[in-house]
Amino acid sequence: MIVMKFGGTSVGSKDSIANIATLIKSRLDKKPLVITSAHSGITNMLIEAADNALKGNPDITKIENRQLGLMKDLGVDESLVRELLDNLKELLNGICMIEELSPKTFDLVQSFGERMSCRVLAAAMQKAGIKAEAKDAFDLGLRTDSKHGQATPDEESYHEIARQVRTIDADVIITTGFIAKSAVDGNITTLGRGGSDFSATIFGAALDADEVEIWTDVNGVMTADPGICKNAKSIPQLSFAEASELAWYGAKVLHPSTILPAVKKDIPVRVLNTMEPENPGTVIVASPEQTDIAKSVVYKEDLLLVNINSSRMLLSHGFMAKVFSIFENYNIVINMIATSEVTISLTTAMSIEDLKPAIDELNEFSTVEVRDRHAIICLVGQGMSGVKGTAAKMFNALSSSGVNIEMISQGAGEINIAALVKNDDIETATKVLHQEFFE
Ligand code: ASP
Ligand code: MG
Repeated sequence: MIVMKFGGTSVGSKDSIANIATLIKSRLDKKPLVITSAHSGITNMLIEAADNALKGNPDITKIENRQLGLMKDLGVDESLVRELLDNLKELLNGICMIEELSPKTFDLVQSFGERMSCRVLAAAMQKAGIKAEAKDAFDLGLRTDSKHGQATPDEESYHEIARQVRTIDADVIITTGFIAKSAVDGNITTLGRGGSDFSATIFGAALDADEVEIWTDVNGVMTADPGICKNAKSIPQLSFAEASELAWYGAKVLHPSTILPAVKKDIPVRVLNTMEPENPGTVIVASPEQTDIAKSVVYKEDLLLVNINSSRMLLSHGFMAKVFSIFENYNIVINMIATSEVTISLTTAMSIEDLKPAIDELNEFSTVEVRDRHAIICLVGQGMSGVKGTAAKMFNALSSSGVNIEMISQGAGEINIAALVKNDDIETATKVLHQEFFE
């Protein structure tokens, strides 16, 4: 069997949904399980609606217009989602009344997008003559921890999904991406923005799929952000390790955790374009044939650079442990780190407000300076391992175009080289590195 995951734009209009019906039909012999995102725009509208409700304005008009408008185009009756929309309305009223939006409630609000699109997609597929059945992912056994907004699947889920799916008699099961339920308390959780990709490989691993297809609106993973580099090309093959690096360092086409379940069961992940289904896109496998020095240049923007200075304590026993236990206590994810004789420099995607309590604690034994609007620009490719001069080429290109590098990092694995620059330099840096390595 295979897993086919469709992103928001792929389920965003009558035409794209008609397109999907053709794609699913062409693969019926492979027994596809379909994972869907919310229709494009809906998740953002839900987030906005939650914020507005908190500010005293609970209103679902915009969501209703988008959702029901699309259903009307498809000829799907609105009764299919009426109860969900009524629940959402009540929930927003509740947020407004108690003036509180906890991570748990916020996840619940966001879950409505996929719960609606999954039902609508199944109805549309039935109209197209496919025996499809809609099921919420949590009703197929997907359970997570209770880390709302960024939940991780429970090991048990893999067995439970396999068991549940076997009991369903349909040509195609259509299920929700992005959402699950906590194994701890049964509340709805989300896997983080873009999390449907992660759902796809979780289901793929649980069902021992032959392949996971991620259907999106670009021709696979690109050599650079095509919005910046007009000459960006799609990459035919990536290794699991390269794809993970690219996703963590900002390639927006894949959720960062997508690759983990695929690695576990060695399942190829193919990134394809709904608008151009003949295009081979990118296939992600354990050992690709293609081993260019660099595969892609990516960036992660809006980071804080944190400098921790403690001339008294640095490199003394336990200093690092002390610093990192503080970050651990506040759930702060660090993306890049460098140490010198007297400072530890690191970057995080957190906001200054969320970082504040950790900084207060660090200030008790060191001096902390925080600078905002930084970006990691990262060159990824397994082929650079053992090849002399890649770093020199990268840094020369950056400096000759006037980009100031504030931190650098290359792991011993030599699969990526990363440099910290200012947000404002992202465009110049991406262009010059793309030119240097790919044009
Ligand atoms: N609908 C969710 C989002 O917009 C999840 C996804 O599309 O993958 O982030
Ligand atoms: Mg996505």
